Amino acid sequence: MRRTKIVATLGPGSSSPDVIEEMVSAGVDVFRLNFSHGSQAEQRHRYQQIRACSEKAGRIVGVLADLQGPKIRTGRFVEHRVQLIRGERFILDADLGEDEGTSERVGITYKDLPKDVRPGNQLLLDDGRVELDVIEVNGNEIHCTVAYTCELSDSKGINLKGGGLSAPALTAKDKEDIKVAAELGVDYVALSFARSAEDVELCRQYVRQAGSAAGIVTKVERADAIKNIDEIIEASDVIMVARGDLGVELGDAELPAIQKSLIKNARDNNKVVITATQMMESMIDNPIPTRAEVFDVANAVLDGTDAVMLSGETAVGRYPVKVVQAMSRICEHAEQQSAARLSDHRVHLMFGRVDEAIAMATMYTANHLDVAAIASLTESGATVLWMSRISSGIPIYALTRHHRTQRKVALYRGVYPVNVENDRIGPIHVSQCVIDVLLGRRIVSKGQRIILTRGDLIGEKGAGTNAMKIVDIPE
Ligand code: PGA
Ligand code: MN
Repeated sequence: MRRTKIVATLGPGSSSPDVIEEMVSAGVDVFRLNFSHGSQAEQRHRYQQIRACSEKAGRIVGVLADLQGPKIRTGRFVEHRVQLIRGERFILDADLGEDEGTSERVGITYKDLPKDVRPGNQLLLDDGRVELDVIEVNGNEIHCTVAYTCELSDSKGINLKGGGLSAPALTAKDKEDIKVAAELGVDYVALSFARSAEDVELCRQYVRQAGSAAGIVTKVERADAIKNIDEIIEASDVIMVARGDLGVELGDAELPAIQKSLIKNARDNNKVVITATQMMESMIDNPIPTRAEVFDVANAVLDGTDAVMLSGETAVGRYPVKVVQAMSRICEHAEQQSAARLSDHRVHLMFGRVDEAIAMATMYTANHLDVAAIASLTESGATVLWMSRISSGIPIYALTRHHRTQRKVALYRGVYPVNVENDRIGPIHVSQCVIDVLLGRRIVSKGQRIILTRGDLIGEKGAGTNAMKIVDIPE
């Protein structure tokens, strides 16, 4: 049973009910709706399809709405693409019309860009495939030299090496998209290009104002975010190691160390972490991954990530189902290594809360006693979040009647949501009720041992887990 979760992006390559259904069966835990592409009507349609397919397959899946944020792009070219020659001058012109680009100059979507750059800066376009060195800023024109001969086509992203762009993280479009996401009932909202904890808090405020309880995923993809990482993690429910933009701003060689430290930092602080971008990139066109991709996914699992993400692989790729199967297989095998199962998480700390202490005691016991499963009766999912911060090979079942909680915990490593009807779990015969549910779903069998956690007031939010019980299921 795979513990690491799979997030898969939907797009034109994966928008039919058949494909989504197969992706659910292949093991997608959370679908990502990318609000950078497609209309609001398309996102709505995809959302309904996900919910219908998940219901049909009888598998709980979450949905993450990924906001575009202030992605800075070039305008378009009259001829749609131009050749840039090494050493020649090229101008980014804030005053030029949106589709009037030539081999001399092109427009930009962010009109304040000339205010943010200085001579000597490097601008990286199209994920770093095009490098422009700034030589002077002349009013609304940024004059650059082309670093190497290359092709540039319409609407490519622009990053400033080293960071420092002033664009705020939430655009007018994002605020509209938050309303759509809230109305649909998504489980997570992802904030792109966050710089600080204030950006995260502002996003959370808009999401709550729109009436959504979605978890906030902060995409770490700016150099500035790395500078403020502790407060950003504190303010977020989940962070995403957004290796695409981050690698352009910081340089690719920085990424492996940053990925490891971000994953550790998130887990140490009881937060969830997604590792994203180009994990299985070659499978956009090929039915099998490269060896380097196999190692990349496996290494992210060993680093302790909760989830691995697919972007173009499932959004526009030719093998949206095969890539999920391949990723799933790689995760499962990586998890078999003993390094993926041991933990010294927070062993030297004092716990602030009773429910956290119960969660820690449960995991310590589970890892040192012959136990088949952990069954946690939970309302908000907080107890299973704490449990899942501890590396373990024992499955953690989150038993709850709240569909929202079920879909949220679908992202947590090693946690499996189970729907229970509240009235089936009466406070008096709670152990027996839980055993019946687990036996009924063939999650455990007779003669096995489980650990059960619960609060005194079952079915009430915030009542708090305060008990752990070791239960031997009779033969
Ligand atoms: P994106 O974010 O796919 O929305 O650009 C992820 C990344 O930059 O890695
Ligand atoms: Mn990005």
